[in-house]
Amino acid sequence: MTEEELRYIKGIGPKNASSLKRIGVNSIRELLFFFPRWHVHKSLITKLEAIETGGKYFILGTITGFEELKRPGRNIIKVTIFDGSPEPLTWVWFNRPYMRPLFIKGKKILLYDTVENTRWGRQVTGSNDSFFFLDAFEEKALADGEILAFYKTTKILTNAFYRSVLAGLMKTHLVDITEMLPPGLTAKHELYIMKEAILKIHFPQTLAELENARKRLVFNELLILQLFLAKRKKFLGKKVKNRNYTVSTAVYDELQNKLPFKLTKAQERVLKEIKTDLMKPAPMNRLLQGDVGSGKTIVALLSIITVLESGYQAAVMAPTEILAEQHFNSFKKFFASIGYNKSMLLLTSGMGAKERREAIKDISEGKVEFVVGTHALLQEDVVFKKLGFIVIDERHKFGVFQRLALESKGVFPDALMMTATPFPRALVLTLYGDTDLSVIDELPAGRQPVFTKWQPEKKRAEVYNFIIQRLKTGEQAFIVYPLVEESAKSLLKAAEQEAVQLQNLIFKDFKVGLIHGRLSSGEKESIMEAFKEKKIDVLVSTTVIEVGIDVSNATIMLIEHAERFGLAQLHQLRGRVGRGSARSYCYLITGWVSSSDSFKRMKIMEQTNDGFAVAEADLDIRGPGELFGAAQHGELDFKLIDLKKDRGLLELAREEAFHIIENDPEIIKPENSQIGAFFKERFSQDLEMVTIS
Ligand code: ADP
Ligand code: MG
Repeated sequence: MTEEELRYIKGIGPKNASSLKRIGVNSIRELLFFFPRWHVHKSLITKLEAIETGGKYFILGTITGFEELKRPGRNIIKVTIFDGSPEPLTWVWFNRPYMRPLFIKGKKILLYDTVENTRWGRQVTGSNDSFFFLDAFEEKALADGEILAFYKTTKILTNAFYRSVLAGLMKTHLVDITEMLPPGLTAKHELYIMKEAILKIHFPQTLAELENARKRLVFNELLILQLFLAKRKKFLGKKVKNRNYTVSTAVYDELQNKLPFKLTKAQERVLKEIKTDLMKPAPMNRLLQGDVGSGKTIVALLSIITVLESGYQAAVMAPTEILAEQHFNSFKKFFASIGYNKSMLLLTSGMGAKERREAIKDISEGKVEFVVGTHALLQEDVVFKKLGFIVIDERHKFGVFQRLALESKGVFPDALMMTATPFPRALVLTLYGDTDLSVIDELPAGRQPVFTKWQPEKKRAEVYNFIIQRLKTGEQAFIVYPLVEESAKSLLKAAEQEAVQLQNLIFKDFKVGLIHGRLSSGEKESIMEAFKEKKIDVLVSTTVIEVGIDVSNATIMLIEHAERFGLAQLHQLRGRVGRGSARSYCYLITGWVSSSDSFKRMKIMEQTNDGFAVAEADLDIRGPGELFGAAQHGELDFKLIDLKKDRGLLELAREEAFHIIENDPEIIKPENSQIGAFFKERFSQDLEMVTIS
């Protein structure tokens, strides 16, 4: 069923067919699977007066006026929308003068957007995908209590077009939809059959039908993904790494005895899980999850020693140079302190050419046993002699392919991935379902929660005074600016100026330092070193310090423009303090917080120090799509998935998938033939990836 066929469908024609192609719909099947963006029913529409805290709402109203403000280089259009509530809504468009002709008095409009409480009243910032003008038919249908589907439209492809073409296809082509699941399975879990799901996702009669359709389609997605993961897990499980590790307990015991602290129970447990894996014939593939500061590094190091002791090489990859350096230095110091001699090397892209050439040679000849580095490790000419073990710190900062690239430098090396982003378990299963999971769910003794306070701009002086008090006792502070994109020159300048001002006006008696991503690695290293050695009291930083940095004497974290950071990032930043036993503080300074999401984020930060609670809240606020954005799992279609709601479904899909692969690893038995076909279609390329790794 191709584009050719699309144009011959009643109501489509060549022009619409090529428009559909442009948005990625090439066949009748793809059109049937082109799901609505919104489903709207009158019960889902909220009156302006009932909107309390912002968040996304369906709003149905009439345009009652508009005003245009023209300034040099700026254009603001303010549209007034009235829905019968006492106060109208202002819908603001910035720099879109060409939108003006659309805003006609009396037009009916449906919005789905975030309402902000601003000092000018309730306001929605206009954006292209968040509204539709309604025609008389749609208005009536909604008033009559119908559920209306709204699609991704273009000038040519209107909602009316989709509805009418799809209505036709339901009569002529729904029968061609193949069922992926065996009947036993749909019946057992009370899932719609596929035809029903497709019909009801486009034309639900009731909200319950819509929910059932959504559930079935989500189940498909999750099942396919879990099949992939189950297959990969099975594949890796069958591999034989041909390495025997012989742990010399003497060295090991000595190491543990010389640790400056006692491992927590959780660390002990996790270490045991890892060691058990190492002794198995199949390569380890394990994710170590633990909140910021829970002590993952030492667990990795103790595991690595097993491998080094047996004559294999080990590599640790970290996402930033600062972090790689910090690991390198602390591993080295630790080894030296116990007289443990292993040749170590730091590999980053900041190295000189000659230095790098030598390093690479030593690695390939096995002269270097333990390598710590950044992405620089992934370059093709980095070849190991006997790589037995890889550790990827801050796993969520890397993509799937980067991980596979590092893996491919050895023959089925044992892999330990670490992450401080405490995805809820359901997400871990989805994202990393082919890995085993170890969780450090306990912080080292004596840690106190970081006292966290959200402060408005006008309290700034108070906060500074407090910091000065702490500095006087010899403690240190971080001040962070939200310079996520290092290319944002003007912000960088702001951070630089700020550092100078802080030095000259506020922290006159102390030393203020500045660190940011634009500095050379040598410069960064010496600044971090100076901070560790207390030659710097206040370190002004862009978010380069976000991950992993460990300076236990730092007790204060001041985050500027905190509203611009996501929750996970705020929590990570806060984790830079509270690492020693002294009481630590985190101040979040924000400008005027106009969106309710930022408001919620600040409140959650004040309320909890628990990374898992933070992650759950983050999921609530942002939805799974965005969380996954960074995590790179393009395979999953998240439009319909609501992981909060669909956790049960996820567990179910996982169970069924692992069950199928267990009994039918190639997915070829007659009862699975349809699933198998879907699976091959979806993962034709990625399956190669499974087998090369
Ligand atoms: P993260 O899990 O965030 O990577 P780190 O491994 O950097 O945390 O550990 C944070 C700090 O806690 C480090 O200074 C480390 O030396 C220390 N630490 C680790 N384990 C323990 C423990 N069992 N008792 C006390 N301190 C510990
Ligand atoms: Mg860490």
